[in-house]
Amino acid sequence: MNHQTAILIIYTGGTIGMIMNSETGVLQPFDFVNINEHIPEIRKFNYKIDSISFDPVIDSSDMEPEIWVRLAHIIEENYESYDGFVILHGSDTMAYTASALSFMLENLFKPIILTGSQLPVGVIRTDGKENLITAIEIAAGSDKGRTIIPEVCIYFDYQLFRGNRTHKDNADYFEAFRSPNYPALAHAGVEIKYNPKAVGRTSGKKLRVLTGMDSNIACLKLFPGIGKNYVKSVLNIPGIKGLILETFGAGNAPTKQWFLEELQNAIKKGLIVFNVTQCRGGSVKMGKYETSMSLQKAGVLSGHDITFEAAVAKMMYLFGNDHSTEQIKKYLQTPLRGEMTI
Ligand code: ASP
Repeated sequence: MNHQTAILIIYTGGTIGMIMNSETGVLQPFDFVNINEHIPEIRKFNYKIDSISFDPVIDSSDMEPEIWVRLAHIIEENYESYDGFVILHGSDTMAYTASALSFMLENLFKPIILTGSQLPVGVIRTDGKENLITAIEIAAGSDKGRTIIPEVCIYFDYQLFRGNRTHKDNADYFEAFRSPNYPALAHAGVEIKYNPKAVGRTSGKKLRVLTGMDSNIACLKLFPGIGKNYVKSVLNIPGIKGLILETFGAGNAPTKQWFLEELQNAIKKGLIVFNVTQCRGGSVKMGKYETSMSLQKAGVLSGHDITFEAAVAKMMYLFGNDHSTEQIKKYLQTPLRGEMTI
């Protein structure tokens, strides 16, 4: 008997399914029935399509690591029964969720496609229809029985990106996401054109779902004039294990003595500091300038070209999964799921 492709849609919320509250005029998440009614085309696919809806559905600004764990469990429980998964998600924190899932799902060999929209499905000019329909097509995609996209991805406005390489770049345009340091995995036009060279390889091993996420991390975004008290208080937040230092350009920071001393002291006390550039494109190159050489000497680790979103997820994942300090330092600087180029 021929295998019928099976897709599971997991609806978490987001603009795609929102409706306007007639009293307040505010957009609020609404249940999946709303999406189903507005996109009857879903039923025309020759696939078995099931859906699971969060209850309550959320605006993705309310996303939490506990919800990532719930998503990872839903995928684990349904992994054998479906060929691909589509996660409907608000665009605001979609890049964080995609990054987190990429780390939590080790040895993934089925497509997990996150999508959403800038306009709700009930609005005539909605981008939600195209996004959802093509995301389903991609999640179902196979070539000679092999999954084309064995990765966690974001599909938005005709482009498919590796999820942990993306960031939300625009709050107004349909083209909401960018992946400045890694090429798109596919472009959807008349045909869906895949870029096989950019797609990650599967390990051939069994899926392992690692759901430990430790959110005892912080970030410190540098700016000219940053004050000592501010830096000191961030570095000394009780219980933090890791700090994302958002640096200038190729990973540079002020050379002021007090700044370096505060950083050195915190690192000596065990804080792991990860250098991620404020630039959306390009990479940290510690040691290229004098202003980053001292960071390197102090024991700051290079985030290379990782996005801020992927750095958050990677730190939470590494601190949450029983690794030694040395392993965490090594893994932070090593690509684990194609999230950085070194
Ligand atoms: N605030 C919405 C959310 O992230 C925006 C969107 O869906 O695009 O849930």
